[in-house]
Amino acid sequence: MTPSIQSFKKNYTTADHYDAILIGSGMGSLTAAAMLAKEGQQVLVLERHYTAGGFTHIFKRRGYEWDVGIHYIGEVQRPNSVIRRLFDYVTDGELKWADMGDVYDRVVVGDKIYDFVKGVEEFKKSLVAHFPEEEEAIEEYVNLVFAANRTARNFYMEKAMPTLARALAGNYLRKPYLKFAQQTTQEVLGGLTSNKELIKVLTAQYGDYGLPPRQSSFVMHAAVARHYFSGGSFPIGGSSQIVETIAPVLSKTDSTILISAEVREVLVEKNKAIGVEMKDGTKFFADRVISGAGIFTTYQKLLPAASVQKHKLNDQLTKVQPSVSHACLYMGLNGTPEELQLPKANYWIYPEEGEHDDIVNRFLDDINAPLPVVYVSFPAAKDPDWSNRYPGKSTIDIITLLPYEEVAKWESTKWKKRGETYDDFKEAMAQRLMEALFRLEPQLRGKVDYYELSTPLTTKHFVNYERGEIYGLDHSPDRFQHKFLRPATPIKNFFLTGQDIVTAGVGAALFSGLLTASAITKKNLVERLFQE
Ligand SMILES: Cc1cc2nc3c(=O)[nH]c(=O)nc-3n(C[C@H](O)[C@H](O)[C@H](O)COP(=O)(O)OP(=O)(O)OC[C@H]3O[C@@H](n4cnc5c(N)ncnc54)[C@H](O)[C@@H]3O)c2cc1C
Repeated sequence: MTPSIQSFKKNYTTADHYDAILIGSGMGSLTAAAMLAKEGQQVLVLERHYTAGGFTHIFKRRGYEWDVGIHYIGEVQRPNSVIRRLFDYVTDGELKWADMGDVYDRVVVGDKIYDFVKGVEEFKKSLVAHFPEEEEAIEEYVNLVFAANRTARNFYMEKAMPTLARALAGNYLRKPYLKFAQQTTQEVLGGLTSNKELIKVLTAQYGDYGLPPRQSSFVMHAAVARHYFSGGSFPIGGSSQIVETIAPVLSKTDSTILISAEVREVLVEKNKAIGVEMKDGTKFFADRVISGAGIFTTYQKLLPAASVQKHKLNDQLTKVQPSVSHACLYMGLNGTPEELQLPKANYWIYPEEGEHDDIVNRFLDDINAPLPVVYVSFPAAKDPDWSNRYPGKSTIDIITLLPYEEVAKWESTKWKKRGETYDDFKEAMAQRLMEALFRLEPQLRGKVDYYELSTPLTTKHFVNYERGEIYGLDHSPDRFQHKFLRPATPIKNFFLTGQDIVTAGVGAALFSGLLTASAITKKNLVERLFQE
């Protein structure tokens, strides 16, 4: 049997022909791959990075390990939630989760602290304690979050339906969700309360999808808020456990993940995808090709120009925007999470004055203005297996928004050799982020053993998003109107998967894989999840 994770740089074994080739090994691709394998298909996953997982990959440096794109996942605490069922299905139940406890997010506005507490009633109670005069608005807010989410399933399942069924029932299935989607988060919340502090707190998780309330669609806000109402969880053993537990499922049909394997072009003949050509000229063939590399990368870099022109795919790209980009400070500290008194809850730290949109705009005008958001995550404290793997150590990640334009001047330089001015720029940002942390956790001063800052150029280098965007497409009201964000494309046997066809978030990307596998097999694979 072929080992399921192999390197394209070493001796690898592949088949002559596959049922499906997947470009990229993000959550969407891995899920689609596992679901197709479970339907008996042999698949080949091609990942350009030297490690698999897309944003769920980890990296190691100086005896530490960091997760890149997972800080907490909701809904996996509920055994019957679709997300938990899906994770169990694609990993044969091998992926285990650790609950973060009662408080999953801690919002800091100036000197005030607001906790987001697990459980809807507790969540409401905790907020009402801060805003007693707003009890009705908080109640109504939670009702609207649930109402918006109730309309989501039909909207997303419609994307996987065959053309005729979509033509007949599509508008009916999409309409209720679109009613919520076309409003901004600010419009909806502004209709409930005029209390700006309450709106600022309720929308504190906007960093989870990148757009502040006046720009984001309410459905995106509602999806994230609802996702975490039952608390946050972290994969035991770290994010790498996702690909580690999916790989054995793939190996059952002799399917393979090839790493360090960059696809140059999708091979299209007579408007039909037949395989891919790699950067070194190697070709792989399959009955169908699925791209989970993001719609911009797929259309601008991977499809032949003739196909893009024929179907006017560039017109689609003018209708959507890349999402935000970020800087992340990866810190290694001396001491166990207990010794350092690290919390499990994430911090969302905001300047005291102003609404989120104004604070962001001020920062975009001048990055020396106060940081618009500082998000702090304590992965070592969340993973009960951490100290077995890394005794006596801890890690912390600190994130803020950082526009691509701020680093564009170094885009032609090479990773790790970008020069002194880039290093100085990074060091200044690293110090600002650390100071924000020390203000809340002063005991950590003097405990830092190692740190390293990533910028949008790092994201571009490792995950191939052209503007270093972290959430694929922007979650504006417009985004949700576009019918082309779905698995099927005008090119026969060529499909999309990943965050761009659903939304950002590991759970959403997971669901995108289910949609793509359903569209390919023409089966309602949701049923599979509840059969076993
Ligand atoms: C900093 C950060 C923090 C986050 N935190 C959370 C969180 O706490 N909880 C949560 O739910 N979500 C979080 N997310 C979002 C979540 O990680 C993503 O939405 C999700 O993982 C995206 O999955 P995807 O399937 O779209 O693929 P991606 O992860 O985007 O992967 C795409 C893959 O395609 C590969 N690729 C591109 N071009 C090629 C090519 N030519 N050939 C071969 N391979 C190619 C890339 O290398 C990459 O591996 C976070 C994201 C980031 C960046």
